[in-house]
Amino acid sequence: MIIEKGKVVSVLYELRLADGSDELIEKVNENRPLQYLQGHGNLLPKFEANLEGLTVGDTFDFVLKSDEAYGPVSKEAIVDVPISVFEVDGKIDEELLTIGNVIPMMDNQGNRFNGKVLEVTLDNVKMDFNHPLAGVDLHFTGRVLDIREATPEELMHGHIHQASSGCGCDGGCSCTTEVTESEDTDACGCGCGCN
Ligand SMILES: [Zn+2]
Repeated sequence: MIIEKGKVVSVLYELRLADGSDELIEKVNENRPLQYLQGHGNLLPKFEANLEGLTVGDTFDFVLKSDEAYGPVSKEAIVDVPISVFEVDGKIDEELLTIGNVIPMMDNQGNRFNGKVLEVTLDNVKMDFNHPLAGVDLHFTGRVLDIREATPEELMHGHIHQASSGCGCDGGCSCTTEVTESEDTDACGCGCGCN
């Protein structure tokens, strides 16, 4: 079996900065491999493209330019947020607004963003909403551990279902049951937000 659209893939990998420093960003080992459904937009398209056609035991070693990964650093993603946004019961949580702190936020459409605190003034908090890996080239090395057929339900949802990790999100989702009624085939229906 080879990695192609509709297959559930398990890999281990190391992700390092491809800027000469070789700094380790992420290490995924055999105990908790990355599992995903190939060809459904779950991972970076170029990451999936580099794994396409590999089989169990194959190793991989490739660099994704920032344009193929998380894109360039955007100035528009650095914004001044009114400090009142961070008020709880009329009080500012100063610990929250420590420079460099990353704060999960939501816009009025319910989209989630992580914002890094760059600067705090009397009225505003300058926040960076760029992806932490924006503007950097990424070096992936790893090995294919397993490939299996996806279930019809997984194909319908466009992501994997696994007893131990639900949708593959970290929220402990329980979407392995009662989601087939969801009319939106993109949506998991379990409310875990992982789609
Ligand atoms: Zn699901």
